[in-house]
Amino acid sequence: MIDSTKVRYFDNNATTRVAPEVVEAMIPFLSEMWGNPSSAYAFGAQVHGHLEKAREKVASLVNADPKEVVFTSCGTEANNSAIHSALVTTGKRHVITTAVEHSANINFGAYLEKQGYQVTYLPVESDGSLDLHLLEQSIRPDTGIVSAMMANNETGVLFPIEEMAAICRSRGVLSHTDAVQVPGKLRLDVRQLGVDFLSLSAHKLHAPKGIGMLYVKRRTKYQPYLIGGHQERGRRGGTENVANIIAFGRAADLAQASIEEENVRVRGLRDRFETTVLSTIPNTVRNGNRSNRLPNTSNIAFDFVEAEAILLQLDQVGICASSGSACTTGSLDPSHVLTAMGLSPMRARSCVRFSLGIYNTEEDINFLLSKLGLIIARLREISPLNPEHTDNDNYDIEAARVKHGEEMLRAGITS
Ligand SMILES: *Cc1c(COP(=O)(O)O)cnc(C)c1O
Repeated sequence: MIDSTKVRYFDNNATTRVAPEVVEAMIPFLSEMWGNPSSAYAFGAQVHGHLEKAREKVASLVNADPKEVVFTSCGTEANNSAIHSALVTTGKRHVITTAVEHSANINFGAYLEKQGYQVTYLPVESDGSLDLHLLEQSIRPDTGIVSAMMANNETGVLFPIEEMAAICRSRGVLSHTDAVQVPGKLRLDVRQLGVDFLSLSAHKLHAPKGIGMLYVKRRTKYQPYLIGGHQERGRRGGTENVANIIAFGRAADLAQASIEEENVRVRGLRDRFETTVLSTIPNTVRNGNRSNRLPNTSNIAFDFVEAEAILLQLDQVGICASSGSACTTGSLDPSHVLTAMGLSPMRARSCVRFSLGIYNTEEDINFLLSKLGLIIARLREISPLNPEHTDNDNYDIEAARVKHGEEMLRAGITS
């Protein structure tokens, strides 16, 4: 087993360490308090009481009423449920989303298209931002819902959700935002946003995996996605994941308390890291709008090097980071987010996302910086993608890329 205390973790947009306070809050519900919250006797009812307290905390995180909170198994379920409900309750056949959503939306859209629905994927600008005029023009009489993420998990870029929701309201269309990346980093207020639906996932917030929530605005019609018992006021069947809900509640409290830290200290770490990389490593480019983004995320292109090669080298010194690419042995699908921003597939394959969190220290950043420059320099020395290494005009750079990717993977795995 890998010693978690030795890992330098810069992948907080993928998942986060469960806070010790959260673990502590859960334990009673994995041990002595195992009653079913739906049971009428006191042994069950006591659990119900704690569950509702956790609901209040999660509601407070987004300034919702506890009755507007539906616990789900994850962020993916929350996203799917919101879109499903809108289509069923309105009977409409068209969905608007964006080209840079999490796969929870992108692949649900593809599924809907197979079922005969129509889906519009709004493009983004080169800095990752969303053009609201395009959104307005895309709304049709048969549009059932607009679903756009609040903060992008790969670049951290923020979308103007308040304005989006206002447009939707004025056109009589339901609105949903995937705000999974936001809590703990920026304040969330569903009243101010004015959306009908909002999704969260607790494992991005220092709670365990397998618990999420969907905010359903009061008076917005709702059709359950999971049909069964009367749990969650009839909006989601299935016995509640009590320990995880308690964890979510505790994490919601902690996230509210740590917002200041994430915004000042973590932002400072991120900015120092990013500025140093961009000024000391040649041929590096930041992806995404510099100011209009989350305080913890830095997505950087390292030209002439494959992201997967960088990640393997980082991994060997205990550093966790990621690329948006789906890697299947040597052939990489470039990130759909970065290609939607207009990056060439080649450059998109050279991008690494560093996402920081409250447990990162100055020392972590120093360690990362001390390794990264050398790794990039070494990889560029041997990279066939490096233009310095060829004066042949007919050089097939794509073939070289695939071959190089395979070699790097082999080298990384076997060395
Ligand atoms: C992680 C993530 C999700 C999915 O959440 P799960 O709980 O893992 O299903 C959805 N949207 C965004 C933006 C995410 O970062």
